[in-house]
Amino acid sequence: MKPPSPDTVPTDIYLSFVSSLFGNRKTLVTGVFVHILMYVLVFLSTYASIYLAFCVAFAIVFGLRINFFRQFDAADKNSFTRADIASWETRYVIGAAATAAILGIGSGYAILILRDPLAEFICVAVTMASMVSIVGRNYGSPRAVDLQILACCVPIVIACLLSQELYKGIASLMLIPFGLTTRAMANGMREFLYRNIVASREISLMADRFDTALNNMPHGLFMLDAQNRILVVNRKACELLNFADPQRLKDCEFDVVLRYGARHAFIDGSLPGLIQRQLAQLVSGTLSRTLIQFNEDQFLEFSASRRADGIVILIFEDVTVRIRAERKILHMVRYDPLTGLPNREYFVDQVKEKLAARNRESRIGILVLDIDDFKHVNDTKGHVAGDRLLVAVAERLKALAGTTVLVARLVGDQFVLFFPNEDDVPDIDGRIRALHAAMAGTYDAEDSSFRVSASGGYMTMPGREFRPEEWQIKVDLALFEAKSRMKGGCSAFEQEMDARYVERQTLKDDLREAVEAGRLQAVYQPMYTPDGSRIECCEALARWIHPEKGSIPPDLFVQLAEEMGIVAGITRFMVDRACRDCVSWPAPLAVSVNLSAQDLRNDEVVKIVIAALETSGLEPSRLHLEVTESCLMDEVATVRSILADLRARGITIAIDDFGTGFSSLSYLDTLPVDVVKIDRSFVRDITTDSRRFKLLCGIVDLSRALSLHVVIEGVETLEQLALVVERNLADIIQGYVFSPPITPEQVAEKVANLDKRQLGAGRLFSPEVVR
Ligand code: C2E
Ligand code: CA
Ligand code: CA
Repeated sequence: MKPPSPDTVPTDIYLSFVSSLFGNRKTLVTGVFVHILMYVLVFLSTYASIYLAFCVAFAIVFGLRINFFRQFDAADKNSFTRADIASWETRYVIGAAATAAILGIGSGYAILILRDPLAEFICVAVTMASMVSIVGRNYGSPRAVDLQILACCVPIVIACLLSQELYKGIASLMLIPFGLTTRAMANGMREFLYRNIVASREISLMADRFDTALNNMPHGLFMLDAQNRILVVNRKACELLNFADPQRLKDCEFDVVLRYGARHAFIDGSLPGLIQRQLAQLVSGTLSRTLIQFNEDQFLEFSASRRADGIVILIFEDVTVRIRAERKILHMVRYDPLTGLPNREYFVDQVKEKLAARNRESRIGILVLDIDDFKHVNDTKGHVAGDRLLVAVAERLKALAGTTVLVARLVGDQFVLFFPNEDDVPDIDGRIRALHAAMAGTYDAEDSSFRVSASGGYMTMPGREFRPEEWQIKVDLALFEAKSRMKGGCSAFEQEMDARYVERQTLKDDLREAVEAGRLQAVYQPMYTPDGSRIECCEALARWIHPEKGSIPPDLFVQLAEEMGIVAGITRFMVDRACRDCVSWPAPLAVSVNLSAQDLRNDEVVKIVIAALETSGLEPSRLHLEVTESCLMDEVATVRSILADLRARGITIAIDDFGTGFSSLSYLDTLPVDVVKIDRSFVRDITTDSRRFKLLCGIVDLSRALSLHVVIEGVETLEQLALVVERNLADIIQGYVFSPPITPEQVAEKVANLDKRQLGAGRLFSPEVVR
């Protein structure tokens, strides 16, 4: 680094140099004392009174300088401009140079004028000694150094040269290198100090910045030495841990600080042990990151890095908001928002966890519950009531499950329960069935009371055989079985169900193919006037002859098609076929086609019907459509508008299997229907059970009162027919008593035969004759 000149050094360093000139006044006092003493000695030995004058001069200059020093002390250095500093330097330089000049002149005088060896010795010695001190106290000002060296040396050299003494002259010239060396030493000193000042300035600047960064970072920080003492701690750390002052923590032991914190309640009293263990693991390097819960609503995440020299840096941040969000998300992912029960995925996780944590093997059980007719609640009472009911069911299940059984909501109105059977009772089936039975009953929701039952399917197995990917298929099969036996029942999974399931799946595949390829057939069951004289209409019934399994019952394959969502394919086929067959029969004979509930979910069916009528050329009045009561309960508004649309086109609508669904007699009159087909179950016992007969009569009367045409289905025997005819219960009769389902050609034949007979006999027809 180049020796700094006052013009180039930064002002603050210039000030510190100039300040150094005004420091250490002891040397100044010692100096003036020695100078005066020595010059008094010279006077006493030579009687040259000029030396007394020099003494006075020393004293005056000293007084002046001390005065400057005092003024400098009193001045406000922070307000100094560069010019102010320069002026203070000048004042110092004047004083210093004046002292040096007195010394130089005093020496020159002794050499040239007094020519007294003792005086020369004293004067030169004092001057040289003072020159040595120039380095020590004047390095801060190059001007002061230069002027003092010149002021000391020049008079001596001149005096020596003028004395015309050869050796003195030569010796005096040696003052030149001496002066230069002194100057170089002063410059070296100044340069050294300059470097130090610059370096320390940089260090303090860096320390300042470091401090700012440290105290403004969003993380808390501790730097610990190898003995776990706190070397550095920032403000955020104190804030997060509730300490007052970072300074007070320095050099304290980290453990002690934590214990102190625990006592002063930043940590819940039960936690410090655990927290200290976690932190100890971090500090020792066995953990590099850990989440610590300090109290109910404060989570801090710590990470530690350890350096080779044993220093540990602990950084931590408040992650409470993040943790809360994570927990919320986790809760949303794991729990059903309506009932607050775990969802399917979390249920499986919980089961796995429970099984893994068990220390004894036992049979476990899984039960799926499906609320019976829940859809009906939704449709008739609204979704809000439906939701409330689900919540009420969830509450009851939780209460019944207690602390050991896990309850979750699968989907919609299905719940699942896991019986860990930790006490290993042998009759786990009994326990499951008891819970199933206990959940049935009355539930209150939305100001209404509901009688609720659920169909249940369950399986039991040794805990180790639980397979997360299998259980649902099996309990679903059991549930399916329960539902197909009787609503509200409960069935256990059996191995044959699996085989049946597989068979059902294959059958579904075959059905899909058959429907797509149009490999179904239609047969027709005639519906007669009660006297059997005329066929009014024929019901189209679908037939599927499986290449290997033979004839598959329509109830079964229609249900399969509904499950697969392809029932519209069957409807399309049947409507099409029925219309074309009906055109080939003599008018006004009509044909009646069954619709599935699924057909009424959208107006696709309207398009199917219109297309079939158009391509066949059948009069719409010759087409009837049968819908079951339960169809009418689904999506009431949509169903009504579809039926109204079809009816407006001249098509007749019949309610099929009347009396078997939710007999909504109350709004029978508001439905867009023309015909009621009373289910054959009402006919079965009429000849033996008078109450059943009365019931049939009642239903007929009600239907007639609503101006509906009455068809009685399933009349099998002559006795049944006689009763029905006698009481005039039916407008139309459908049943084996007149005819089973037959081919379209047979229908045409039958109609032709009837016409012939009617023409020939002109009398009423008995069923025997018809058959
Ligand atoms: P359904 O609509 O009630 O049809 C009448 C069923 O009763 C027919 O059975 C018929 O053979 C039977 N049956 C007629 N008279 C008597 C009788 O005197 N006694 C007894 N015990 N039964 C009688 P099928 O053909 O087996 O059809 C069963 C069910 O399959 C039908 O019941 C209907 O719900 C459904 N189905 C049939 N074809 C179709 C179709 O094309 N589309 C739809 N969606 N469903 C169909
Ligand atoms: Ca029918
Ligand atoms: Ca029917």
